[in-house]
Amino acid sequence: MRRSKPSVATPPDLASAATTRPTAKDPATGAAKQRKTRQQQPRPEKSAPARDRSAVGNSETKDGLHPRSRHRGAYDFAALIADSPALARFVITTKYGNQSIDFATAEAVKALNQALLRTHYGISDWDIPVGYLCPPIPGRADYLHHLADLLAEGNDGKIPRGPKISVLDVGVGASAIYPLIGHREYGWHFVGTDCDADALASAQRIIKANQGLGTAITLRRQRSPQTLFAGVVQTDEHFDISVCNPPFHASAAEAAAGSTRKWHHLGKHAAARGGTPVLNFGGKDGELWCEGGEVGFITRMIGESRQTPGLCLWFTSLVSKESSVPMIVRALQAAHVRERRVIDLSHGQKRSRIVAWTFLDERQRRDWRGVRWQ
Ligand code: SAH
Repeated sequence: MRRSKPSVATPPDLASAATTRPTAKDPATGAAKQRKTRQQQPRPEKSAPARDRSAVGNSETKDGLHPRSRHRGAYDFAALIADSPALARFVITTKYGNQSIDFATAEAVKALNQALLRTHYGISDWDIPVGYLCPPIPGRADYLHHLADLLAEGNDGKIPRGPKISVLDVGVGASAIYPLIGHREYGWHFVGTDCDADALASAQRIIKANQGLGTAITLRRQRSPQTLFAGVVQTDEHFDISVCNPPFHASAAEAAAGSTRKWHHLGKHAAARGGTPVLNFGGKDGELWCEGGEVGFITRMIGESRQTPGLCLWFTSLVSKESSVPMIVRALQAAHVRERRVIDLSHGQKRSRIVAWTFLDERQRRDWRGVRWQ
């Protein structure tokens, strides 16, 4: 399929009010191409990060997405529609002759998500309540692929798979998107937390509606929005990795301004085709903003992780704004983490990054793997 304007032919971040996060790595060498992994501290594991080569494959990286991504290249609408006929009425032909959908229409974005989740992840029944974030699937999947790479390091390059691997999703949201993809891709077990009761009810409905998810995903309510771990994890509980897509605005007004910018961007696309822009991405208050924005959220998480350094082998979060990184790095330094990473992600024009940190030294990490993964 011919590709031209990536912002039209591939899912733009505009489908979400909050984030997008993809990447690119040379599958053969493991070297970053469009992606860079910056390390501010010497890595205890000196050798080049090993890869699960059987899973990685050998094709060239496209779109900046991870080599294991199922979404590289243009969407195969014929295949998607064969599985999800409801998508057909939303498919359009762009002025470049490509098949796409109108990303300015919430219904179309949701139908695409439903089709992608069905075709690629075997999720046949997925929906979110009106107004909640409709997460761009490729970016969310990429975050998980990078976590798999992080866990594969020091594990002979082998990605640990199956329910022994336990992942904590802080802010699982109405879509339960990380647990769905992470479980279907790698068989991991997830605990998803959220302080929004309606979001949790929606996530629970998705889990119930799809076979095999009941034992794979557990949901917990966080009653204090300022708290990330306390109150939702047990003192003797351990997770191999945590995942988080924090609310990134610092106020409702800032969130509204961000949404308006995106709306205008989408409006231009729609206007160019003579259409009327319709707000497509939604996002409830708790999804969009929190005290201190993403820096506040992540520094609170770093502070709490310091109190419970053995809770996770790796703690991670998305960081949407480049300007947030120095403040987060300073917080990590102040917390005396043993090692930290900033993994750059790119998808179309959007760039973001994952920050990851651990309090465990190399020996402790080896012991962790020995005890939990064997
Ligand atoms: N993971 C989803 C949703 C991200 S939006 C996705 O990637 O699309 C951020 C989510 O964090 C919202 O659902 C919000 O309710 C939740 N949240 C905010 N503060 C929280 C806290 N202290 N603990 C757990 N979840 C929280």
